[in-house]
Amino acid sequence: MNPHIALESGAEVLLDALRAAGFSAYAVGGCVRDSLLGQSPNDWDLCTSALPQQVLELFGPERCIPTGLQHGTVTVRQGNRLYEVTTFRTEGSYSDGRHPDQVTFVPDVREDLARRDFTINAMAYDKEEGLIDPFGGQRDLLALRVVRAVGEPEQRFEEDGLRILRLYRFAARFGFAVDPATDAAARALRGRLRCVSAERILEELSKLLCAPRPGLWLQPEIVETLFPELEPLRLPQQFGQVRQAVDTVPPELPVRLAALLHPLDVAAAQTVLRRLRCSNALRKETLCLLGEQTLLPAQEPQARRVQARRLLGRLEPETLRSLTALCSALRPEEAPDLAALQAEAEALDGQNVCCRVGQLAVDGRDLMALGIPAGPGLRRVLDELLEQVVTETLPNEQEALLAAAGHREGA
Ligand code: ATP
Ligand code: MG
Repeated sequence: MNPHIALESGAEVLLDALRAAGFSAYAVGGCVRDSLLGQSPNDWDLCTSALPQQVLELFGPERCIPTGLQHGTVTVRQGNRLYEVTTFRTEGSYSDGRHPDQVTFVPDVREDLARRDFTINAMAYDKEEGLIDPFGGQRDLLALRVVRAVGEPEQRFEEDGLRILRLYRFAARFGFAVDPATDAAARALRGRLRCVSAERILEELSKLLCAPRPGLWLQPEIVETLFPELEPLRLPQQFGQVRQAVDTVPPELPVRLAALLHPLDVAAAQTVLRRLRCSNALRKETLCLLGEQTLLPAQEPQARRVQARRLLGRLEPETLRSLTALCSALRPEEAPDLAALQAEAEALDGQNVCCRVGQLAVDGRDLMALGIPAGPGLRRVLDELLEQVVTETLPNEQEALLAAAGHREGA
Protein backbone atom coordinates (compact mmCIF):
# COMPACT_ATOMS: atom_id res chain seq x y z
CA MET A 1 0.00 0.00 0.00
CA ASN A 2 1.42 3.34 -0.97
CA PRO A 3 0.03 6.09 1.24
CA HIS A 4 -0.75 9.62 0.15
CA ILE A 5 0.87 12.46 2.08
CA ALA A 6 -0.37 16.03 1.74
CA LEU A 7 2.85 17.98 1.22
CA GLU A 8 3.02 21.36 2.84
CA SER A 9 2.72 24.03 0.13
CA GLY A 10 6.20 25.59 0.50
CA ALA A 11 7.86 22.19 0.57
CA GLU A 12 5.95 21.21 -2.54
CA VAL A 13 7.11 24.32 -4.41
CA LEU A 14 10.75 23.53 -3.60
CA LEU A 15 10.41 19.86 -4.51
CA ASP A 16 8.77 20.79 -7.84
CA ALA A 17 11.58 23.24 -8.60
CA LEU A 18 14.28 20.68 -7.84
CA ARG A 19 12.57 18.06 -9.97
CA ALA A 20 11.98 20.50 -12.82
CA ALA A 21 15.72 21.18 -12.77
CA GLY A 22 16.36 17.47 -13.27
CA PHE A 23 17.24 16.43 -9.71
CA SER A 24 15.46 13.94 -7.55
CA ALA A 25 14.04 15.37 -4.35
CA TYR A 26 11.91 14.20 -1.43
CA ALA A 27 10.43 15.23 1.86
CA VAL A 28 12.31 13.15 4.41
CA GLY A 29 12.54 12.10 8.05
CA GLY A 30 10.31 13.58 10.73
CA CYS A 31 7.80 15.21 8.37
CA VAL A 32 7.09 11.91 6.59
CA ARG A 33 6.83 10.05 9.91
CA ASP A 34 4.51 12.63 11.46
CA SER A 35 2.33 12.86 8.33
CA LEU A 36 1.85 9.09 8.26
CA LEU A 37 0.79 9.27 11.91
CA GLY A 38 -1.75 11.95 11.01
CA GLN A 39 0.13 14.58 13.00
CA SER A 40 1.24 17.90 11.61
CA PRO A 41 5.03 18.11 11.25
CA ASN A 42 7.07 20.86 12.94
CA ASP A 43 9.21 21.41 9.91
CA TRP A 44 9.61 19.93 6.48
CA ASP A 45 13.13 18.72 5.71
CA LEU A 46 13.98 17.99 2.10
CA CYS A 47 16.69 15.84 0.58
CA THR A 48 17.91 15.90 -2.97
CA SER A 49 20.46 14.59 -5.42
CA ALA A 50 21.44 18.23 -6.17
CA LEU A 51 24.81 19.21 -4.72
CA PRO A 52 24.81 22.14 -2.28
CA GLN A 53 26.28 24.40 -4.94
CA GLN A 54 23.51 23.41 -7.34
CA VAL A 55 20.87 24.13 -4.71
CA LEU A 56 22.43 27.58 -4.18
CA GLU A 57 22.44 28.26 -7.90
CA LEU A 58 18.88 27.04 -8.40
CA PHE A 59 17.30 29.15 -5.67
CA GLY A 60 19.71 32.09 -5.75
CA PRO A 61 21.87 33.50 -2.96
CA GLU A 62 19.19 35.89 -1.65
CA ARG A 63 16.91 32.98 -0.73
CA CYS A 64 19.62 30.68 0.62
CA ILE A 65 21.52 30.47 3.88
CA PRO A 66 24.56 28.22 3.48
CA THR A 67 24.01 26.66 6.94
CA GLY A 68 26.15 23.59 6.66
CA LEU A 69 27.56 23.41 3.19
CA GLN A 70 30.25 20.89 4.04
CA HIS A 71 27.53 18.60 5.45
CA GLY A 72 25.38 19.24 2.41
CA THR A 73 22.74 21.46 3.97
CA VAL A 74 21.40 24.68 2.48
CA THR A 75 18.51 26.47 4.19
CA VAL A 76 16.12 27.85 1.59
CA ARG A 77 13.43 30.45 2.16
CA GLN A 78 10.08 29.85 0.48
CA GLY A 79 7.21 32.17 1.33
CA ASN A 80 7.93 33.12 4.91
CA ARG A 81 9.26 29.72 5.95
CA LEU A 82 12.69 28.13 5.97
CA TYR A 83 13.44 24.64 4.69
CA GLU A 84 16.59 22.59 5.14
CA VAL A 85 17.58 21.08 1.82
CA THR A 86 20.26 18.43 2.26
CA THR A 87 22.14 16.58 -0.44
CA PHE A 88 21.87 12.76 -0.28
CA ARG A 89 24.84 11.66 1.74
CA THR A 90 26.43 8.91 3.73
CA GLU A 91 28.42 9.65 6.83
CA GLY A 92 31.04 8.00 9.01
CA SER A 93 31.43 8.07 12.79
CA TYR A 94 30.93 11.11 14.99
CA SER A 95 34.27 10.80 16.76
CA ASP A 96 34.08 14.36 18.08
CA GLY A 97 30.55 13.65 19.32
CA ARG A 98 29.20 16.52 17.24
CA HIS A 99 29.68 16.03 13.53
CA PRO A 100 30.26 13.07 11.29
CA ASP A 101 33.97 12.76 10.48
CA GLN A 102 33.34 12.62 6.79
CA VAL A 103 30.36 13.14 4.60
CA THR A 104 30.13 11.67 1.13
CA PHE A 105 27.49 12.86 -1.29
CA VAL A 106 25.70 10.03 -3.05
CA PRO A 107 23.22 9.93 -5.95
CA ASP A 108 20.63 7.57 -4.45
CA VAL A 109 18.04 8.45 -1.82
CA ARG A 110 18.19 4.89 -0.47
CA GLU A 111 21.79 5.34 0.55
CA ASP A 112 20.82 8.54 2.33
CA LEU A 113 18.01 6.77 4.16
CA ALA A 114 20.46 4.07 5.29
CA ARG A 115 22.51 6.58 7.31
CA ARG A 116 19.46 7.66 9.31
CA ASP A 117 18.93 6.38 12.82
CA PHE A 118 15.58 4.59 13.06
CA THR A 119 13.29 2.97 10.53
CA ILE A 120 10.46 5.38 11.40
CA ASN A 121 12.83 8.28 10.58
CA ALA A 122 14.21 6.69 7.41
CA MET A 123 11.40 7.27 4.94
CA ALA A 124 11.22 9.73 2.06
CA TYR A 125 8.21 10.87 0.07
CA ASP A 126 7.54 12.50 -3.20
CA LYS A 127 4.17 12.82 -4.89
CA GLU A 128 5.41 11.20 -8.10
CA GLU A 129 7.25 8.25 -6.57
CA GLY A 130 5.21 7.94 -3.39
CA LEU A 131 6.78 6.56 -0.23
CA ILE A 132 10.38 5.33 -0.31
CA ASP A 133 10.64 2.98 2.64
CA PRO A 134 13.48 0.47 2.31
CA PHE A 135 13.60 -0.50 6.00
CA GLY A 136 9.97 -1.17 6.82
CA GLY A 137 9.48 2.14 8.58
CA GLN A 138 5.79 2.36 7.76
CA ARG A 139 5.12 -1.04 9.30
CA ASP A 140 7.12 -0.20 12.41
CA LEU A 141 5.34 3.13 12.70
CA LEU A 142 1.73 2.14 12.09
CA ALA A 143 1.40 -1.61 12.67
CA LEU A 144 4.09 -2.53 15.20
CA ARG A 145 4.53 0.85 16.87
CA VAL A 146 8.17 0.19 17.58
CA VAL A 147 11.41 2.16 17.35
CA ARG A 148 14.06 0.07 15.61
CA ALA A 149 17.55 0.94 14.43
CA VAL A 150 18.28 1.02 10.73
CA GLY A 151 20.80 -1.77 10.14
CA GLU A 152 23.00 -3.22 12.89
CA PRO A 153 22.08 -1.47 16.13
CA GLU A 154 25.55 -1.92 17.71
CA GLN A 155 27.23 -0.34 14.74
CA ARG A 156 24.77 2.54 14.62
CA PHE A 157 25.26 3.36 18.31
CA GLU A 158 29.02 3.00 17.93
CA GLU A 159 28.96 5.58 15.16
CA ASP A 160 26.98 8.09 17.19
CA GLY A 161 26.18 7.58 20.87
CA LEU A 162 23.52 10.25 20.81
CA ARG A 163 21.25 7.81 18.99
CA ILE A 164 20.93 5.92 22.30
CA LEU A 165 19.14 8.87 23.82
CA ARG A 166 17.18 9.54 20.64
CA LEU A 167 15.91 5.96 20.76
CA TYR A 168 14.13 6.52 24.05
CA ARG A 169 13.04 10.02 23.15
CA PHE A 170 11.14 8.84 20.05
CA ALA A 171 9.69 5.87 21.93
CA ALA A 172 8.53 8.20 24.71
CA ARG A 173 7.15 10.78 22.32
CA PHE A 174 4.91 8.29 20.52
CA GLY A 175 4.42 5.82 23.36
CA PHE A 176 6.09 3.13 21.24
CA ALA A 177 7.93 0.00 22.25
CA VAL A 178 11.66 -0.28 21.67
CA ASP A 179 12.78 -3.14 19.45
CA PRO A 180 14.49 -5.67 21.78
CA ALA A 181 17.72 -5.95 19.79
CA THR A 182 17.95 -2.17 19.51
CA ASP A 183 17.26 -1.83 23.22
CA ALA A 184 19.90 -4.40 24.16
CA ALA A 185 22.50 -2.66 21.99
CA ALA A 186 21.61 0.75 23.43
CA ARG A 187 22.10 -0.50 26.97
CA ALA A 188 25.30 -2.35 26.17
CA LEU A 189 26.81 0.66 24.42
CA ARG A 190 25.52 3.31 26.82
CA GLY A 191 29.12 4.34 27.57
CA ARG A 192 29.18 5.89 24.08
CA LEU A 193 26.96 8.62 25.46
CA ARG A 194 29.99 9.96 27.31
CA CYS A 195 31.61 10.85 23.98
CA VAL A 196 28.70 13.05 22.92
CA SER A 197 28.82 16.81 23.37
CA ALA A 198 26.76 18.30 26.20
CA GLU A 199 24.74 20.46 23.84
CA ARG A 200 23.51 17.48 21.85
CA ILE A 201 22.72 15.51 25.02
CA LEU A 202 20.77 18.40 26.49
CA GLU A 203 18.72 18.83 23.33
CA GLU A 204 17.64 15.20 23.20
CA LEU A 205 17.24 14.87 26.96
CA SER A 206 14.95 17.90 26.93
CA LYS A 207 12.79 16.35 24.26
CA LEU A 208 12.72 13.04 26.13
CA LEU A 209 11.77 14.69 29.40
CA CYS A 210 9.01 16.74 27.78
CA ALA A 211 7.29 13.72 26.22
CA PRO A 212 3.82 13.05 27.65
CA ARG A 213 4.88 10.36 30.16
CA PRO A 214 8.59 9.65 29.78
CA GLY A 215 9.01 7.67 33.02
CA LEU A 216 8.83 4.24 31.45
CA TRP A 217 11.52 5.16 28.91
CA LEU A 218 13.96 6.52 31.47
CA GLN A 219 16.26 3.52 31.73
CA PRO A 220 18.14 3.38 35.03
CA GLU A 221 21.44 2.42 33.36
CA ILE A 222 21.15 5.20 30.83
CA VAL A 223 20.21 7.80 33.43
CA GLU A 224 23.11 6.64 35.57
CA THR A 225 25.51 6.91 32.66
CA LEU A 226 24.45 10.51 32.08
CA PHE A 227 24.32 11.35 35.78
CA PRO A 228 26.68 9.19 37.85
CA GLU A 229 25.72 11.48 40.74
CA LEU A 230 22.39 9.60 40.85
CA GLU A 231 24.08 6.22 41.28
CA PRO A 232 22.52 5.31 44.65
CA LEU A 233 19.23 5.35 42.77
CA ARG A 234 19.92 1.81 41.71
CA LEU A 235 17.43 0.87 44.38
CA PRO A 236 14.46 0.14 42.17
CA GLN A 237 12.01 1.77 44.52
CA GLN A 238 13.80 5.10 44.42
CA PHE A 239 14.05 4.97 40.68
CA GLY A 240 10.34 4.27 40.64
CA GLN A 241 9.82 7.51 42.51
CA VAL A 242 11.92 9.45 40.03
CA ARG A 243 9.90 8.04 37.15
CA GLN A 244 6.62 8.75 38.85
CA ALA A 245 7.65 12.32 39.70
CA VAL A 246 8.77 13.01 36.13
CA ASP A 247 5.49 11.68 34.76
CA THR A 248 3.36 13.64 37.21
CA VAL A 249 4.74 17.17 36.88
CA PRO A 250 3.72 19.28 33.85
CA PRO A 251 5.74 18.76 30.64
CA GLU A 252 7.98 21.81 31.10
CA LEU A 253 11.72 21.42 31.11
CA PRO A 254 12.77 23.03 34.41
CA VAL A 255 10.27 21.12 36.52
CA ARG A 256 10.81 17.86 34.65
CA LEU A 257 14.58 18.22 35.16
CA ALA A 258 14.02 19.01 38.82
CA ALA A 259 11.86 15.87 39.14
CA LEU A 260 14.63 13.80 37.56
CA LEU A 261 17.35 15.29 39.75
CA HIS A 262 15.31 15.62 42.94
CA PRO A 263 17.37 13.07 44.92
CA LEU A 264 20.46 15.30 44.53
CA ASP A 265 21.39 18.13 46.83
CA VAL A 266 21.66 21.57 45.30
CA ALA A 267 25.47 21.45 44.99
CA ALA A 268 25.44 18.14 43.10
CA ALA A 269 22.59 19.36 40.90
CA GLN A 270 24.58 22.51 40.18
CA THR A 271 27.49 20.35 38.96
CA VAL A 272 25.19 18.30 36.75
CA LEU A 273 23.48 21.31 35.20
CA ARG A 274 26.79 23.03 34.50
CA ARG A 275 28.12 19.91 32.86
CA LEU A 276 25.00 19.79 30.68
CA ARG A 277 25.69 23.43 29.73
CA CYS A 278 22.16 24.48 30.57
CA SER A 279 21.34 28.12 29.97
CA ASN A 280 21.58 30.33 33.04
CA ALA A 281 17.81 30.71 33.11
CA LEU A 282 17.18 26.97 33.01
CA ARG A 283 19.82 26.27 35.62
CA LYS A 284 18.52 28.96 37.94
CA GLU A 285 14.93 27.80 37.69
CA THR A 286 15.78 24.12 38.17
CA LEU A 287 18.04 24.83 41.16
CA CYS A 288 15.38 27.06 42.67
CA LEU A 289 12.84 24.23 42.46
CA LEU A 290 15.32 21.76 43.94
CA GLY A 291 16.20 24.14 46.75
CA GLU A 292 12.54 24.64 47.63
CA GLN A 293 11.35 21.06 47.14
CA THR A 294 10.95 20.44 50.88
CA LEU A 295 8.20 23.08 51.07
CA LEU A 296 5.72 22.10 53.77
CA PRO A 297 2.27 23.47 52.93
CA ALA A 298 0.31 25.21 55.70
CA GLN A 299 -2.97 23.61 56.66
CA GLU A 300 -4.85 26.54 58.21
CA PRO A 301 -6.34 29.21 55.93
CA GLN A 302 -4.68 32.12 57.74
CA ALA A 303 -1.24 30.48 57.78
CA ARG A 304 -1.75 29.39 54.18
CA ARG A 305 -2.45 32.96 53.11
CA VAL A 306 0.72 34.22 54.80
CA GLN A 307 2.74 31.37 53.32
CA ALA A 308 1.40 32.09 49.84
CA ARG A 309 2.36 35.75 50.21
CA ARG A 310 5.87 34.89 51.35
CA LEU A 311 6.32 32.50 48.46
CA LEU A 312 5.06 35.06 45.95
CA GLY A 313 7.51 37.48 47.52
CA ARG A 314 10.47 35.42 46.40
CA LEU A 315 9.25 33.30 43.48
CA GLU A 316 7.67 34.13 40.14
CA PRO A 317 4.06 32.88 40.00
CA GLU A 318 5.04 30.32 37.31
CA THR A 319 7.88 29.03 39.45
CA LEU A 320 5.52 28.62 42.35
CA ARG A 321 3.13 26.67 40.14
CA SER A 322 5.98 24.34 39.14
CA LEU A 323 7.06 24.02 42.75
CA THR A 324 3.64 23.02 44.07
CA ALA A 325 3.36 20.51 41.20
CA LEU A 326 6.78 19.07 42.04
CA CYS A 327 6.02 18.80 45.75
CA SER A 328 2.65 17.16 45.02
CA ALA A 329 4.39 14.61 42.81
CA LEU A 330 6.99 13.85 45.47
CA ARG A 331 4.53 13.74 48.39
CA PRO A 332 1.06 12.89 47.07
CA GLU A 333 -0.33 12.90 50.62
CA GLU A 334 0.31 16.65 50.74
CA ALA A 335 -1.23 17.31 47.34
CA PRO A 336 -4.55 18.69 48.68
CA ASP A 337 -2.81 21.25 50.92
CA LEU A 338 -0.44 22.14 48.10
CA ALA A 339 -3.36 22.63 45.73
CA ALA A 340 -5.04 24.90 48.26
CA LEU A 341 -1.79 26.86 48.65
CA GLN A 342 -1.50 27.21 44.90
CA ALA A 343 -5.12 28.38 44.59
CA GLU A 344 -4.53 30.94 47.33
CA ALA A 345 -1.39 32.22 45.59
CA GLU A 346 -3.22 32.56 42.29
CA ALA A 347 -6.03 34.50 43.94
CA LEU A 348 -3.55 36.82 45.70
CA ASP A 349 -1.58 37.32 42.51
CA GLY A 350 -4.77 38.05 40.57
CA GLN A 351 -5.81 40.69 43.13
CA ASN A 352 -2.30 42.16 43.12
CA VAL A 353 -2.13 41.74 46.90
CA CYS A 354 1.14 43.09 48.34
CA CYS A 355 3.82 40.41 48.61
CA ARG A 356 6.96 42.38 47.68
CA VAL A 357 8.57 45.63 48.76
CA GLY A 358 7.74 47.11 45.37
CA GLN A 359 4.03 46.59 46.06
CA LEU A 360 4.02 48.47 49.38
CA ALA A 361 1.89 51.63 49.52
CA VAL A 362 5.06 53.57 50.44
CA ASP A 363 8.49 53.66 48.83
CA GLY A 364 11.98 54.76 49.80
CA ARG A 365 11.29 58.38 48.95
CA ASP A 366 8.30 58.51 51.30
CA LEU A 367 10.51 57.21 54.09
CA MET A 368 13.31 59.66 53.33
CA ALA A 369 10.74 62.44 53.63
CA LEU A 370 10.22 61.18 57.18
CA GLY A 371 13.91 61.76 57.82
CA ILE A 372 15.14 58.18 57.38
CA PRO A 373 18.50 58.37 55.56
CA ALA A 374 19.09 56.46 52.33
CA GLY A 375 21.11 53.26 52.61
CA PRO A 376 20.78 49.77 54.06
CA GLY A 377 18.81 51.07 57.04
CA LEU A 378 16.10 52.30 54.70
CA ARG A 379 15.88 48.92 53.03
CA ARG A 380 15.57 47.31 56.45
CA VAL A 381 12.62 49.52 57.33
CA LEU A 382 10.91 48.61 54.06
CA ASP A 383 11.50 44.91 54.74
CA GLU A 384 10.03 45.25 58.22
CA LEU A 385 6.96 47.03 56.89
CA LEU A 386 6.53 44.28 54.28
CA GLU A 387 6.79 41.64 56.98
CA GLN A 388 3.99 43.30 58.92
CA VAL A 389 1.83 43.70 55.83
CA VAL A 390 2.35 40.08 54.80
CA THR A 391 1.48 38.81 58.28
CA GLU A 392 -1.48 41.20 58.26
CA THR A 393 -0.50 43.09 61.35
CA LEU A 394 -0.53 46.27 59.22
CA PRO A 395 -2.80 47.18 56.30
CA ASN A 396 -1.00 48.12 53.10
CA GLU A 397 -2.07 51.77 53.37
CA GLN A 398 0.18 54.75 53.16
CA GLU A 399 -0.95 56.46 56.35
CA ALA A 400 -0.62 53.32 58.47
CA LEU A 401 2.77 52.46 56.96
CA LEU A 402 4.17 55.97 57.44
CA ALA A 403 2.93 56.00 61.02
CA ALA A 404 4.56 52.63 61.70
CA ALA A 405 7.82 53.73 60.05
CA GLY A 406 7.90 57.04 61.93
CA HIS A 407 7.10 55.33 65.17
CA ARG A 408 9.76 52.71 64.60
CA GLU A 409 12.32 55.37 63.69
CA GLY A 410 11.47 57.43 66.74
CA ALA A 411 11.76 54.41 69.03
P1 ATP B 1 11.48 16.31 15.48
O1 ATP B 1 10.09 16.50 15.00
O2 ATP B 1 11.54 16.00 16.92
O3 ATP B 1 12.44 17.36 15.04
P2 ATP B 1 12.89 14.73 13.57
O4 ATP B 1 12.71 13.34 13.04
O5 ATP B 1 12.76 15.86 12.59
O6 ATP B 1 11.93 14.92 14.80
P3 ATP B 1 15.57 15.66 13.97
O7 ATP B 1 16.44 15.52 15.16
O8 ATP B 1 15.14 17.03 13.57
O9 ATP B 1 14.31 14.74 14.23
O10 ATP B 1 16.32 14.95 12.78
C1 ATP B 1 15.82 14.96 11.44
C2 ATP B 1 16.11 13.62 10.75
O11 ATP B 1 17.52 13.47 10.60
C3 ATP B 1 15.65 12.41 11.55
O12 ATP B 1 14.31 12.07 11.23
C4 ATP B 1 16.64 11.35 11.10
O13 ATP B 1 16.27 10.81 9.87
C5 ATP B 1 17.92 12.13 10.88
N1 ATP B 1 18.80 12.18 12.06
C6 ATP B 1 18.88 13.18 12.98
N2 ATP B 1 19.82 12.95 13.89
C7 ATP B 1 20.37 11.78 13.56
C8 ATP B 1 21.45 11.01 14.12
N3 ATP B 1 22.08 11.40 15.21
N4 ATP B 1 21.77 9.86 13.48
C9 ATP B 1 21.12 9.46 12.36
N5 ATP B 1 20.12 10.14 11.81
C10 ATP B 1 19.74 11.29 12.38
MG1 MG C 1 13.27 17.95 13.10
